[in-house]
Amino acid sequence: MGSWLEGKILADKIKEEVKQQAMQYKDTHGKVPGLVAVLVGENKSSQVYVRSKEKACQALGLFSEVQHYPSDTPPAILLEKIDELNRREEVDGILVQLPLPPHIDPQKIICAVSPDKDVDGLHPFSLGTILMNRVGFRPCTPLGVVELLKYNKIPIEGRDVVVVGRSILVGKSLAAMLTNENGTVTICHSKTRDLDKVCARADILIAAMGKAVFVKPEFVKPGAVVIDVGINSVSDPVKVKEYFGDDVKRQQDLQAKGYTLVGDVHPAAFERAGAMTPVPGGVGPLTIAMLMRNTLEAFKRRKGL
Ligand code: NDP
Repeated sequence: MGSWLEGKILADKIKEEVKQQAMQYKDTHGKVPGLVAVLVGENKSSQVYVRSKEKACQALGLFSEVQHYPSDTPPAILLEKIDELNRREEVDGILVQLPLPPHIDPQKIICAVSPDKDVDGLHPFSLGTILMNRVGFRPCTPLGVVELLKYNKIPIEGRDVVVVGRSILVGKSLAAMLTNENGTVTICHSKTRDLDKVCARADILIAAMGKAVFVKPEFVKPGAVVIDVGINSVSDPVKVKEYFGDDVKRQQDLQAKGYTLVGDVHPAAFERAGAMTPVPGGVGPLTIAMLMRNTLEAFKRRKGL
C-alpha cells in the first residue's frame, strides 16, 4: 500500500505565495491583481464554483468581481461585456464559467477573451502555447496535476503515462503538458480498446472521465502513481458501502449531506498504487490555487513586473 497525495498542502502553499506577492505589489505599486468571473444563467454548481473563486480572491487580497447575467442573455451582449472587460485596466483575469446556456457557443465567448487575460488557459492561443511548449497560461486543473507530481518529486521524464479522457479542459491539455515534461504519454477515450490493459502499463495513471469508480484496482500496475481527477457524487448507501466498505467518515458524510464524493478510480485501487490522490482533497483544491496563481501571473505580465 502506498501513500495519499493530498493536494491541499500544495494548494495552501501556492495560495500563501500569491497572497504575499499581492501584498507586496499593493505596497510597492498601489495595485492588486484582479479577476472577474462571468456567470450566465442559474446553474447551481456554477454558482457554487464562482462563489468559491470569489472567496479565494478575497482571502488572498485580490480584486474580485462577479458579473451575473440572465440565462436568456443574447451572445452579442455577452461579447460586448467581454470586450469591456478586455479594456478595463484593473482586470487582469477573465473567467467565463462553463457551461454556458445552450444558445451560446462557448468557443465564441472564450475566443473573445484577450489572451493576456485568459487565466483559465482555454483560449486557442493559450492552448497553442502548450503544443509549442512556450510560455503561456495553462488550464488550471491540468496545471495542478503537473505541479502536484513535481511537488511530490514524482519523475515524469521517460515514464509511461496514461491519461484517460481527452477533453480540452483536462485530458488532452494534460497529455500535451506531460509530453512537454518528457513523459511517454498515451491518451485514452471512450473508443479505446482494452482500456484495462492499456492502463495497467502506466507508471503514472490519470483518470479524467467523469465516470464514478470506473478505473478498477486491476487497471493499476502495482506501485503506479494514480491521479484521480474525477469528481462524482454518490447518494446510494449501497454503493457507498460497496466503494468505501465500513469507512465511518464516509457514512457520516453521506448522512450529513445526502451524498459523498467519489473519483473515477475505485478507492480499492489504493491498495495497489504506490501513491494516489484522494477524492475529495486531491486534485480539486489545486484548481482554484492555480487560478489564483494565473491571475497573479497575468497581473505581473501586464504590468511588466
Ligand atoms: P468530459 O465529459 O468533457 O470528458 C470525459 C472524457 O472521458 C472524454 O474524453 C471521454 O471520451 C472519456 N470517457 C468517458 N467514458 C469513458 C470510458 N468508458 N472509457 C474511456 N474514456 C471515457 O469531462 P471533463 O474532462 O470535463 O472532466 C472529467 C472529470 O474531471 C469529471 O469528473 C469532472 O467533474 C472532473 N473535473 C475535476 C476538476 C477538479 O478541479 N478536480 C476540474 C474539471 C473536471 P470521449 O472523448 O470518447 O467521449
